[in-house]
Amino acid sequence: MSPSGAEVIRQIRQQIEEVDPAEVSEHLGNGIVLVDVRESDEWDRGHIPGAVHVPRSYLESRIEGAVSDRDARVVLYCASGSRSAIAAHILSDMLGYTNVASMTGGITLWKDRGYKVEVPRSLTREQKERYGRHLLLPEVGPEGQAKLLDAKVLLLGAGGLGSPSALYLAAAGVGTLGIVDDDEVDLSNLQRQVIHSTRTIGTPKVDSAEAAIAELNPDVRVVKYPVRVGASNIVEIIEGYDVIVDGLDNFPTRYLLNDASVRLGIPVVSASILGFDGQLSVFAPHDGPCYRCLYRVPPPAELAPSCGANGVLGVLPGTMGLLQATEVVKLVTGIGEPLIGRLLLYEALGATFTELKVRRDPECPICSRDPSEIADEELGVFPDYEAFCAAAG
Ligand SMILES: [Zn+2]
Repeated sequence: MSPSGAEVIRQIRQQIEEVDPAEVSEHLGNGIVLVDVRESDEWDRGHIPGAVHVPRSYLESRIEGAVSDRDARVVLYCASGSRSAIAAHILSDMLGYTNVASMTGGITLWKDRGYKVEVPRSLTREQKERYGRHLLLPEVGPEGQAKLLDAKVLLLGAGGLGSPSALYLAAAGVGTLGIVDDDEVDLSNLQRQVIHSTRTIGTPKVDSAEAAIAELNPDVRVVKYPVRVGASNIVEIIEGYDVIVDGLDNFPTRYLLNDASVRLGIPVVSASILGFDGQLSVFAPHDGPCYRCLYRVPPPAELAPSCGANGVLGVLPGTMGLLQATEVVKLVTGIGEPLIGRLLLYEALGATFTELKVRRDPECPICSRDPSEIADEELGVFPDYEAFCAAAG
């Protein structure tokens, strides 16, 4: 007579290692990989913080993606400890994992003991469909998507760089997009500023961008700032944002942004373009260099690209703006290696990317100091501030 299912589970539980929730709680985040083997709807109702999700039904095909080191300490759990026992048996006996255990009593006992459970923000059916391709990436998944929906990203400028950034960040489901621009849409913008259209010529860029975003993704809330950024309003505008996309076209404001963002501890994804060349870097206050560490003073006014109209290949800000959007998504979701301490140079005609290492300047006039010591009057100040663009004519 064949043994009953309950008898099989009992036998398996004798062959595998079982650990108590107290032990798991103690070692969590400390060299153990905690794997939730329940189904997706169970995971969505709440799971142990820090756990990775590999449903029992996909265990054999997905476990290697989640735990590549077969000697890693792996603890599995389910609702009550039965499915995780079987999964532990499969991992150790059939898939060669050497240090696997199943948590006794599953998440039910874990909760009874009063340990923390994380309930992911639940996505609506429409959101699950809209962001389906993100949900399929284990690195993003529902949690990464929830972070994007909760994120507040500020775009300084709705021009060449800000246009593609804003469109893709909206499409990706960044929940709040602040847009700062005091300009109106001009026919000559449309060669590259793809968020605007022939129909919106003559209207404020913030309105034109808001309308395009609303059509693309109603999940996104747009906060408009139809103003010029200056020393008097910058702190008020950028405060409360998680990441800033710098699409500014002039040096004085770039210094101002740098100083204010260092003071408030907000990372800035910065790009600049000229002709066929683009540059990109992420300035994360105190984790890497700031803009002033790289450029202590601006270039001589006659060499500065920012003061007048210059030629630019229309596609180039698209390339650079989308690299900025990519860095924003990485910073928000916490995946990958952001471009901190690195300067990426793109030369479109030769189709070459070059990366330079950039370091913090221990003598930096801004980021070497305690942020609370940076006074309002110091923000954005550099020698010859007023004369700077005047000299370029
Ligand atoms: Zn610095």
